[in-house]
Amino acid sequence: MKTMTQPPATPARDDVADLLSALTAAALERRRPAREQALALLATPDEDLLDVIAAAGRVRRAHFGRRVKLNYLVNMKSGLCPEDCFYCSQRLGSQAEILKYSWIAPDEAAALAAKAVDAGAKRVCLVASGRGPSDRDVERVADTVAAIKGGTPDVEVCVCLGLLKAGQATRLAAAGADAYSHNLNTAEEKYADICTTHTFADRVHTLQDATGAGLSPCSGAIFGMGESDEDVVSVAFALRDLDPNSVPVNFLIPFEGTPLGDRWDLTPARCLRILALFRFVFPDVEVRLAGGREIHLRTLQPLALHLANAIFLGDYLTSEGAPGAADLAMIADAGFTVEGREETTLPTARAEQVALRRRGAGTELPANT
Ligand code: SF4
Repeated sequence: MKTMTQPPATPARDDVADLLSALTAAALERRRPAREQALALLATPDEDLLDVIAAAGRVRRAHFGRRVKLNYLVNMKSGLCPEDCFYCSQRLGSQAEILKYSWIAPDEAAALAAKAVDAGAKRVCLVASGRGPSDRDVERVADTVAAIKGGTPDVEVCVCLGLLKAGQATRLAAAGADAYSHNLNTAEEKYADICTTHTFADRVHTLQDATGAGLSPCSGAIFGMGESDEDVVSVAFALRDLDPNSVPVNFLIPFEGTPLGDRWDLTPARCLRILALFRFVFPDVEVRLAGGREIHLRTLQPLALHLANAIFLGDYLTSEGAPGAADLAMIADAGFTVEGREETTLPTARAEQVALRRRGAGTELPANT
């Protein structure tokens, strides 16, 4: 006899309303949702999508109002990486048509950063391809941080150089870097499906090193790589265990010439449910709409601003983003405002925790974690 495959059960309307009230109440108290609640959120039907956005949007407004923080990527070194991350256009053997170049000079990076700051960027992310930096690379980045801070002392500088060796995080903190970024990307159980040259644990260790050195941890994920709902929840919870202050949510840009070049699994509604989940799991943390937003959210991008409180402005590492002017118009049209450099992004308790860690003290949030 032929067996029929049953579609996944979707919650009834009343159940969705109860679920959203419970998730909102928990998030407003900074409590983590239960795994079953997180899975149920991802299984809500499209007809309930606006209710999902409204509920998570309440949490976003409670902690971040209607402000949108702008971040800008400076790609300091591009391509020619010896690692094999399947999603990455810069991986070993990638046939993707991207710019490949070695380190740009500190003053060139500082000039790019200054332009972005003029356009409203509050954080500059210095990114380099590769498994991890040499000590010489770290010195070059330290010079770059100094050049940027020399011109604009109040701009936040985040560094993203891959896996760090002993002492490198401390050197970057001493040079004035504010944050270190290293994504977990996907669930630990799925990690070997997207990379074979380093492990999930390697990434966790680097994040822990950076946090221990007083750098503000930034870590997120990429979706659309064949992950299940269980995987989405697992990576969200693993990230929460690391207590990051910013969490970039990327959607796979399937570059031709990479192993995931033909994966187009996402719908705009799925992306929005994932973003809503991240807002519930990270109520008082910067949730940043990152790579792939234009091609996967498409015309629904403005709805994502009700969930994420930060975006990258302009181009990504090896692909073109929306021009800055179009992003600024979208933010204004959707009724949001660009966060000024004089405004504090994070809610008070978390901002104080960042300052304490920077001074080498206290690593725990005071309550409700
Ligand atoms: S994600 Fe980073 S480490 Fe992995 S291949 Fe790309 S540049 Fe290399």
